[in-house]
Amino acid sequence: MRVLVTGAAGFLGSHLTDRLLQEGFSVLGMDNLITGSLENIAHLENEPHFDFIEHDVSKYIDVPGGLDGIFHFASPASPIDYLELPIQTLKVGALGTHNALGLAKAKDARLLLASTSEVYGDPLVHPQPESYWGNVNPIGPRGVYDEAKRFAEAITMAYHRCHGVDTRIARIFNTYGSRMRPNDGRVVSNFIVQALSGEPITVYGDGSQSRSFCYVSDLIEGIWRLFNADIHNPVNVGNPDEYTIRQLADVVLAATSSGSKLEAMPLPIDDPMVRKPDISLAASVLDWKPEVVLEVGLGHTIAYFQELQARGALKTSPESTG
Ligand code: UDP
Repeated sequence: MRVLVTGAAGFLGSHLTDRLLQEGFSVLGMDNLITGSLENIAHLENEPHFDFIEHDVSKYIDVPGGLDGIFHFASPASPIDYLELPIQTLKVGALGTHNALGLAKAKDARLLLASTSEVYGDPLVHPQPESYWGNVNPIGPRGVYDEAKRFAEAITMAYHRCHGVDTRIARIFNTYGSRMRPNDGRVVSNFIVQALSGEPITVYGDGSQSRSFCYVSDLIEGIWRLFNADIHNPVNVGNPDEYTIRQLADVVLAATSSGSKLEAMPLPIDDPMVRKPDISLAASVLDWKPEVVLEVGLGHTIAYFQELQARGALKTSPESTG
C-alpha cells in the first residue's frame, strides 16, 4: 500500500506518517513548509519507505505511480496562523482539497479529509454531535479556516456522491503533543512554553471558555480506525474531557512546578466559548475512545518542550490574537 500524506511535516501529519510506516505502508509526504517543519520528519531521513516532496497542494498535485490512499492534512491550524495566512488557509482548504480529491479520483485512492471542530463555530449545542450544523461567522478572523473546512467537507461529499470517490471525514478537536511549534500560539503549547520559561501565563478573556484536549496518540489511533472503517459522513475525533482555560492553566502550572503568574489578555474575536465532542458515533463505528488522560499526555508534551529548551530552541510565545 502506498499513501500520500499532505501536511506531512506538520504536527499531526508527521505523527500520522510515523504510524502509517509502522503499519507497513509506503508513505509519500508532501508539505510546503509554511507552518510545517522538516525537523518533524528528520528522523525519517534514512527510512526506505518514506519520500518527501516540498509542494503547495493548493497547486496541481503531480504524483507519479499508483496511490492507495490520501490523508489530506495540509493546512495552517492555529488561530494566529489564520490571521497571518488568511488567503493560504482558504486556498489549501478549498483548492488544496479539490486537488487532493482530483488525485484520489485519478488514482482510485481512498481519501481521508482532516476536518475540524471549527465547523461548529461558537457552538449553540453542547457537546457537539456530528448532526449539529454549527454557528460560524463567515467573515470573522477565524472564518477563513472554518469556511474553508466547511467547503472541504462539502466538496469531499460531492466527490463521493458524484464520482464515487471513497472518502472519510474526521472532525478533529483540540489535539496536543510533541512536535507542536513552541510559537504555535495555541493554548497548550503557549502555557507550557510560558511555564517553562517563567513567563506570565496568558489567559485570554476570563478563562471560563472551555476546550477538550486529546493527546496525539489517541487522535492518530482514531484517524487510523476511521480510514479503515466504512463510513462517509463526518466523524468527531477528540477527547470529551472538558476543561476551562483557567483549569488548564492550573494543571500546566502544577505539572511544570512553575511559579509563573496568570496574566489576563483580551479574548480573541469569535473565540468559541465552549467545545466538547460528542464521540458516541466514533465509539460505535470505530470502537474507539481516547485513553490518555490530560496529566499523562501533558507530562509527555512537557518533556518534549523541556528537550527543546535544553537545546535553546524555545522561542518566546506570541502576542495575544485578541
Ligand atoms: N488561549 C489562552 N491563552 C493562550 C492561547 C489560547 O487563553 O495563550 C485560549 C483561547 O482564547 C481559546 C483557547 O485557549 O479560548 C484555545 O485556544 P487555541 O488557540 O489553542 O485553539 P482554538 O480551540 O481556539 O482553536
